[in-house]
Amino acid sequence: MGYVDLHLHTTASDGVLSPSELVRYAKAKGLQSVAITDHDTIEGCEEGLSEGERIGVEVIPGIEISAEHSPGSMHILGFFLDIHHPFLNERLKYLQRARAERNPKMVEKLRRLGVDITFEEVVKASGGGQVGRPHFANVLLEKKHVRSFQEAFDRFLKKGAPAYVDKFRFTSKEALHFINEAKGVGVVAHPNTLGMNGYWELEKLVLRLVEEGLQGIEVYYPEHSAADVAKYKTLAERHGLLVTGGTDYHGMEKNGLDIGVGRGEMKLPYSIVENLKTVRSRSLSGR
Ligand code: AMP
Ligand code: ZN
Ligand code: FE
Ligand code: FE
Repeated sequence: MGYVDLHLHTTASDGVLSPSELVRYAKAKGLQSVAITDHDTIEGCEEGLSEGERIGVEVIPGIEISAEHSPGSMHILGFFLDIHHPFLNERLKYLQRARAERNPKMVEKLRRLGVDITFEEVVKASGGGQVGRPHFANVLLEKKHVRSFQEAFDRFLKKGAPAYVDKFRFTSKEALHFINEAKGVGVVAHPNTLGMNGYWELEKLVLRLVEEGLQGIEVYYPEHSAADVAKYKTLAERHGLLVTGGTDYHGMEKNGLDIGVGRGEMKLPYSIVENLKTVRSRSLSGR
């Protein structure tokens, strides 16, 4: 039994590799199963699935939804989605429209700040996929308005910075609802970004999410310390939740994290996928 990586981005959102390139790369790295989890979109799944079938890699159609949350940020992963499900597609279209309304406003803000940038340039930088702030950052860098990708966020694009425009987010309840409706399994991503103060606060939040349909926790993640991993594992065990893991690979050149292994420390067994499948079929037969 091989290894798996259940958190990956493609050019459908802000990843560097196209879905087929990603799946071929996974194969070359010896992975048996991978989940495509682009931000707010399933546009990369179909291509990834057919490439996976062709070359013999299991591809799990997934997503990563940004949900309304404070003080930190909450991302919810959905695995084994029925990507043709009408309700899922309608909800995602709604998100795309919200994003499409926000992006020109950010261009406008940048222009008012004296930055020479056009919406066309940002669209071009997105390579035809969903347009997001990382693409703004790439244009700012390319046109030498900033000296690094991070500077673009710090000076202009991060939350609270002068060119930032908030975008609509679903609540966790809404996100888990459409993931579950589309036969998917909902998992809270990288809990270390939730900004919860201590174990009890985190547990309280997780229990609320379970009420809303959550079925797992992303325990293994490159930014989690050994203590984080132990904490999230305990939390999952106590509440009968699935344990998942992934690298959040966007392209090595972005942050030095590689598919399947992160910084070299990750090795996720196929049993993670088997457990996901078991829980999914149990919930589907209970509907
Ligand atoms: P968007 O979906 O357009 O709001 O862009 C979100 C993406 O921007 C995230 O997935 C990150 O890749 C990136 N991002 C958000 N905040 C920061 C930050 N402070 N520094 C660097 N990258 C960030
Ligand atoms: Zn991303
Ligand atoms: Fe995330
Ligand atoms: Fe991610």
